[in-house]
Amino acid sequence: MQNTESVDGIAQRINGMALRISKMQADELYFYNMPITEIHGSAEVVVNGRKMLMFASYGYSGLLGHPRINAAAKDAIDRYGTGTHGVRLLAGTLDLHRELEATIAKFKGADDAITFSSGYVTNLAVISCLVGRHDLVLCDKFDHASILDGCVLAGAELKRFRHNDMAHLEALLQKNAHRATKLVIVDSVFSMDGDIIDLPTTIALCRKYHAYLMVDEAHSIGVLGATGRGIEEHFGLHDGVDVKMGTLSKTIPSVGGYAAGSCTLVNLLRHAARGFIFSAALPPAQAAAARAAFDVILDEPERVVRLRENSIMFRDSLKRMGYDTMQSETAIVPVLCGADDLAYSLVRACQQRGVFALPVVAPAVPEGTARLRATVTAGHSKSQIEAALEVFEAAGKEVGLI
Ligand SMILES: *Cc1c(COP(=O)(O)O)cnc(C)c1O
Repeated sequence: MQNTESVDGIAQRINGMALRISKMQADELYFYNMPITEIHGSAEVVVNGRKMLMFASYGYSGLLGHPRINAAAKDAIDRYGTGTHGVRLLAGTLDLHRELEATIAKFKGADDAITFSSGYVTNLAVISCLVGRHDLVLCDKFDHASILDGCVLAGAELKRFRHNDMAHLEALLQKNAHRATKLVIVDSVFSMDGDIIDLPTTIALCRKYHAYLMVDEAHSIGVLGATGRGIEEHFGLHDGVDVKMGTLSKTIPSVGGYAAGSCTLVNLLRHAARGFIFSAALPPAQAAAARAAFDVILDEPERVVRLRENSIMFRDSLKRMGYDTMQSETAIVPVLCGADDLAYSLVRACQQRGVFALPVVAPAVPEGTARLRATVTAGHSKSQIEAALEVFEAAGKEVGLI
């Protein structure tokens, strides 16, 4: 017999979303799931038949379409085809997977690494493998959704500390000093704000209170550190992070996620992480592309330099115009609008003038801090950034933000 109440609940959800979206579309304020039909280099895209400057890319190093990476992917297809024989634990592991994992381990200064089918799955699989009921996880309030979902899946108790507030983290660690298993998880660079975690203090606190530390580097690989190796290089640290997690879908122009750490940690994950043992292996082309991308980051260090210069130029110019770019220190540049409507209007005004950037509103960010989020890459030329800045100036004046 059907439970009519739950069917009605589902119908309500479905209809509610349809209503919301059609209203946004009617107001020309629907910016999501837009099909991109052409990608020109890493800074221009064609959307709805119109060429636009791309300022919503996670491809920070500008590697999308890099000839060496494309060649590696094509070669892998020629050698192995497009899939594997199944999950990694059984018949799915290729030498390519092991080579990729060795490359990641070396890049991150870890003993070993393991890859998963996405960054999202990596967080779910790693967290739910390391902790369970009765264990405690401490997260930054602005940590990525996949970290929270991992804690829910694990059934662990989750406490969140105020964003980048080390005194609050210490207070929570102190209060829970008696707990046997404590895992602290932070983003290295926060995806909605572009600021950097105080890693030296986080590590010191984890040592003092005997907590395990996991860091999500989705937005710091290729971005932070003199050679793009990430957050430890940025701070000149060599150890202290137990689980070095990242994605292969942003700076690395592929798909997948990884966790790097000690041999024994990776050994545990390889045999007990459910997102690994019950889910198919990365396709050969994507594994080969990811591996080549790590090599390119090290072989073309000018990309890291250019990204940093571009980020500074873009952010400083926006500030001079009167925009509030919050605490951003990286390639992620939020433009604070406050009210949702203002963020939508600014995005519309930018898009009408040919700049592809997107709005972020609650619940992705705290209520009243709606923003346009722009991202800069090493693939932008100075003249493309200048052109985008002109658009931001005109758009900001039109909507009355500057
Ligand atoms: C994007 C992102 C993920 C998820 O990675 P995918 O490879 O896209 O699944 C995890 N953590 C953070 C901080 C991210 O920004």
